Amino acid sequence: MTVYERPGSSGSKIKVEEKYGHFIGGEFVAPKKGQYFENFAPQTGEVFTQVGRGTEEDIEAALDAAHNAADSWGRTSTTERANILVQIAQRIEDNLEDLAVLESWENGKAVRETLAADLPLAVDHFRYFAGALRAQEGSISEIDENTIAYHFHEPLGVVGQIIPWNFPILMATWKLAPALAAGNAVVLKPAEQTPWSILKVVELIGDLLPPGVLNIVNGFGAEAGKPLASNKRVAKVAFTGETTTGRLIMQYASQNLIPVTLELGGKSPNVFFDDVASERDAFYDKALEGFTMFALNQGEVCTCPSRALVQSSIYSEFMKDAVARVEKIKLGNPLDTETTMGAQASNDQLEKIKSYLDIGKQEGAKVLTGGEQAKLDGDLAGGYYVQPTVFEGDNSMRVFQEEIFGPVVSVTQFDDEADALKTANDTLYGLGAGVWSRDAGRAYRMGRGIKAGRVWTNNYHAYPAHAAFGGYKQSGIGRENHRMMLDHYQQTKNLLVSY
Ligand code: NAD
Repeated sequence: MTVYERPGSSGSKIKVEEKYGHFIGGEFVAPKKGQYFENFAPQTGEVFTQVGRGTEEDIEAALDAAHNAADSWGRTSTTERANILVQIAQRIEDNLEDLAVLESWENGKAVRETLAADLPLAVDHFRYFAGALRAQEGSISEIDENTIAYHFHEPLGVVGQIIPWNFPILMATWKLAPALAAGNAVVLKPAEQTPWSILKVVELIGDLLPPGVLNIVNGFGAEAGKPLASNKRVAKVAFTGETTTGRLIMQYASQNLIPVTLELGGKSPNVFFDDVASERDAFYDKALEGFTMFALNQGEVCTCPSRALVQSSIYSEFMKDAVARVEKIKLGNPLDTETTMGAQASNDQLEKIKSYLDIGKQEGAKVLTGGEQAKLDGDLAGGYYVQPTVFEGDNSMRVFQEEIFGPVVSVTQFDDEADALKTANDTLYGLGAGVWSRDAGRAYRMGRGIKAGRVWTNNYHAYPAHAAFGGYKQSGIGRENHRMMLDHYQQTKNLLVSY
């Protein structure tokens, strides 16, 4: 067991400055209007640093820098760009432990997860897109004996990226790795709740890229996000966040007729068939663990299995074991490696989750476990903690239909496959889903039938870089990860040549 020292304390080697500016043109610069906003540590609720509050002027400065850099970056050889991405991956890997700790400190998530998942995945995404770039091919079509159609990939130019607070470094990586590999310059706006950790990454890797290729402007959505997403000098907007914000982003981008990638909200079903409980073996144990994935990352995952559908014939016994498993979740200090669930990322998020705990109770959902804010002791008393909560109810309830984005799962029963599929698809969202069955045919049919971009079958929450990820319905447009993302950051150029 290790309990890491909080960044900035005398026992920690992670430095925390009093203030941080934006990263523009290869250097840290003060915000044009000289304004900063407070950054909170969710585990204690304390302000630990201040970060530049970006405005349109900062976005314009970042776009100037990006446009100055874009042409020559886009013309570097694929080998050179791939090598730089590999070096970025290596630097992150060499500093993985520090980055995991500071990510956990800023976001409130359990350090065992940032050590085991967030940071290793970030490293892997840079390596993956370095490889994907080198493997990317154009095409040649012979039209007739004198004419050939060549198809080339060209970078889009300067792209705008806007990310949420739930996986600050990983979400940045998902966007940066393919965009940079494809030869674009980037202006990225982190979420106002977690502006710091990506600046610490940039402190580490910023010198590996030519100045202006990567720019970070912090700030609030309306003040910094909107001027970026609606800017005529941006060739694409890649956004991850709420569905309501995604609609706005699409409106802004439509004025300039530029493409968008929208990774939005979810209300993912996790379906447990009766054969799961036919034996009390390793598979059953894995399924119970899969049930608890609703609380992974404090439930602040767009694909959290926040609806569980359990076949009626095993409902009572399965739920008894599932609730017992949930009650083993260890809520506590995020910097303690024994902790399995940390603090919610912000006070606003804590309040939102509490309001849904009330809504669930008012609409008649039964609390099987949890249901309250959690109060921890000592210096964690001011932190933003919630008990992992299991509601039992009906799929028409608000706690089954609306994204809570906290450690809350709403459970209901189904009779047969058709019933399960109907309930699973009875949602506005279509991001993730889980299917648990020992019967491969049943699992396959359900997987194909569920209207969601990612269906985990007999596992949940793996995020390999080579698996495409994205939403159906109101969960988004486009995909991330997978080598196809390179195309999403490129134009296709056709040269039709007569010889
Ligand atoms: P949010 O939409 O409130 O904010 C996301 C980002 O958008 C932030 O950087 C914010 O400053 C910015 N923003 C807000 N208003 C804006 C505007 N008018 N113009 C431009 N930018 C604006 O979302 P959040 O609360 O930070 O994140 C949680 C949401 O993200 C959840 O709905 C979750 O499901 C979703 N999410 C989706 C995925 C996915 O891959 N589909 C991954 C992670 C999170």
